[in-house]
Amino acid sequence: MAVTLNTTTCIYCPSTGPFTKEHIFPAGLGGDDAFQLEDLVCGHCNTKVFGPLDQALMRRSPAALARIFLMTQGRRDGGAPQLDSNVVEMADPISHLVEEMEIVAGGKFRVRPQMLFNGIMCPVQATDADDMQAFVAKLASTLTDAVHVIVKEKTESSTSFHITTFAWDGSKYGQTETTTEKQLPAIGVWRETLTPSKTAKPDWIYVSRLFLRAEGQLVVRVLPQDDLSAILNNARMVLDLLQKQPTFTSQSTEKPDVHIGMTMDMNLVHRAMAKTGVNHVCQEYGQAIVRLAAFDLVKQAINTGSPQINAQGWVDPKMERIFTQDQRPVHLAMLWPVAQPDGTFNILFGIRLFGTPFQGIILAEGVALPLGAAPVIYTVHYEERRTERQTLAEYLIAAVVPKLLDEGRTRAGLS
Ligand SMILES: [Zn+2]
Repeated sequence: MAVTLNTTTCIYCPSTGPFTKEHIFPAGLGGDDAFQLEDLVCGHCNTKVFGPLDQALMRRSPAALARIFLMTQGRRDGGAPQLDSNVVEMADPISHLVEEMEIVAGGKFRVRPQMLFNGIMCPVQATDADDMQAFVAKLASTLTDAVHVIVKEKTESSTSFHITTFAWDGSKYGQTETTTEKQLPAIGVWRETLTPSKTAKPDWIYVSRLFLRAEGQLVVRVLPQDDLSAILNNARMVLDLLQKQPTFTSQSTEKPDVHIGMTMDMNLVHRAMAKTGVNHVCQEYGQAIVRLAAFDLVKQAINTGSPQINAQGWVDPKMERIFTQDQRPVHLAMLWPVAQPDGTFNILFGIRLFGTPFQGIILAEGVALPLGAAPVIYTVHYEERRTERQTLAEYLIAAVVPKLLDEGRTRAGLS
């Protein structure tokens, strides 16, 4: 009986569509538009499953940190790459007060415009006068006679907002009612709990802080023991002073001692990498190959997280040494079919992002490939969004051998 492959479904799930285009290498990491899977990945897998995986890889991973320092743009049409950090902070070298920071493109740090509630002066910080002006304007429009303090509550199925109103009685704020809403008030302050970092230096001093995000939200991060009414009273008093006589401290952040808090879920990151691997197999060997039962397990792992992907499934120190010769601003994605005694192949995938260590995933075992299937490398030039496909041999001759020859010549005193 002939085996018919169903080619009308998504390569990752039984869905019959609609299909969306899937970059074989994530676009946000510089993937080339010319390398996309068309009519092969369904919209559900693409947005509901892969979207969060790619987000974890791009925003909450070791590569995400590298990305913010090395890439000037995220997607071709988008702005600077962003990092999903819980908190980025730095202690003032003199006062030791911990301040709210942000990382901007190119890996530069900026002090967010903010007010620190140390119980004495309530110092105000900003990087420059423009930031300061924006901060004062935002405070003036928010610290009115009724301040709405917003706490976001997110469950799996819904997001709601607990809104507490603080009313001004002429001399101080008093807490009034709390309601739960689906809609945000037009103006308000986001309340978050301030938790001192476990890796903070012993001389760092944490005080509650009120700051402005680049996206325009006013946020108050409050120590658990602090009273929010008192903070708002101080803020309104300081605002009065700022409006009369704007003074602030400009912070130089040349070599800041910065703490970056980021929750990384490496399982999500590794699933994103494995998905990239399967995409490359589909691109390289065709859709029939990735529909084979040999790929069921890795697809299940990508879709559900179980079993866990082992990103150290194969490591080859020699390989690692070869790739460190390649210092270009590139990512590498390699497919390595390893011939087995029975004539089938195990398909290994290697990925190296921003020069971070090579991750090796075994995608499938016992796959029938054409005889003599050779390792191939996709080199992603992330700034140019250009991808180059080469056999491993071609890659070595183009990217590695000249470097080794140069080194040899230098050592021999020939140049
Ligand atoms: Zn699907």
